[in-house]
Amino acid sequence: MKAWILDNQAKINEKPLKLVDEYPTPEPKYGQVRIKVKYCGICRTDLHIAEGDLPLHKRPIILGHEIAGVVDKVGEEVKRINIGDKVGLSWLYRTCNGCKYCISGWENYCPYFISTGWDVNGGFAEYVVAYEEYVFPFNDIPLGLDDLAPMMCPGIASYLAYDLANPKPGDNIGVIGFGPTAYYLLKIANYSGIDVYVSTRSKHHMEVAYENGAKWVGNILKEDFPKKLDAIISFPPVGEIVEKALRNLKHGGVLVLTQIASTPITIKDYSNIWGRTIKTVHNIRRESAYKMLNLAKKIDLSIEKAIFKFEELQDAMILVRRGEVKEMNSVVKID
Ligand SMILES: [Zn+2]
Ligand SMILES: [Zn+2]
Repeated sequence: MKAWILDNQAKINEKPLKLVDEYPTPEPKYGQVRIKVKYCGICRTDLHIAEGDLPLHKRPIILGHEIAGVVDKVGEEVKRINIGDKVGLSWLYRTCNGCKYCISGWENYCPYFISTGWDVNGGFAEYVVAYEEYVFPFNDIPLGLDDLAPMMCPGIASYLAYDLANPKPGDNIGVIGFGPTAYYLLKIANYSGIDVYVSTRSKHHMEVAYENGAKWVGNILKEDFPKKLDAIISFPPVGEIVEKALRNLKHGGVLVLTQIASTPITIKDYSNIWGRTIKTVHNIRRESAYKMLNLAKKIDLSIEKAIFKFEELQDAMILVRRGEVKEMNSVVKID
């Protein structure tokens, strides 16, 4: 099969990924299905792995964990998924199913968490195999596969971040950095009657935030939020933002950090953190995905996206790295 493989990490503009035609097509094992990948979203995490911010766990590795496609083959004892089903696969490839985190539904903390596109091959290829319990059925969701691919990472992460922030009716929450996860979070909050204050540097993202119901849009690098907030969800992997965000929280407020890596975080003035709580989004869990897919049946969760050809993946990643993709999300189409 055709696949993009990563053997040696390097800055993305040095083009560390290689496109190969003859990568062995995977066969579904016991309990697994094979997905003919139709769309796979490009994530910052793919860049972190390609560039060495995160260590290489497998060599070569096929990146990509925002996968939407159609099942073309099933292994033994597959019961829930059928050939021809539209499905998704996320960063959550598998967990142990036996530890206290797995048993309580917080499998995102499982010490044996296996990540798609990091520990095992991901979706920047024609085919990927996955365990049926970790595959999300899409058959009754009124969205195209191009919109369902980004649901598999930003979509799921947004619900997890929202649940960690845990806003109550009448609360006001802030979002710093307005990428796809923040976009979905705004949609969830609006649906739940929570006002959202958005900070972003991008003029286009400011417009998208307003169009989608943000209460206030500004840039906290230049000004504080207009009021103290009950929770803030922050996306930029920039340590200096943390103290700024904490300063904008009420006492009792929660700051949720969503990034997978960050520059060093320092807090100079203890009064800014006193009385606040910092939480972090660590991996994802299936419950968040099911909540998100359920919401997709009630409200429009389509997202503005740039669609790239499969052969253009590496160039697209370079554009994402430089912040030169105007659209909210970037997706690769695999024919
Ligand atoms: Zn991702
Ligand atoms: Zn576990």
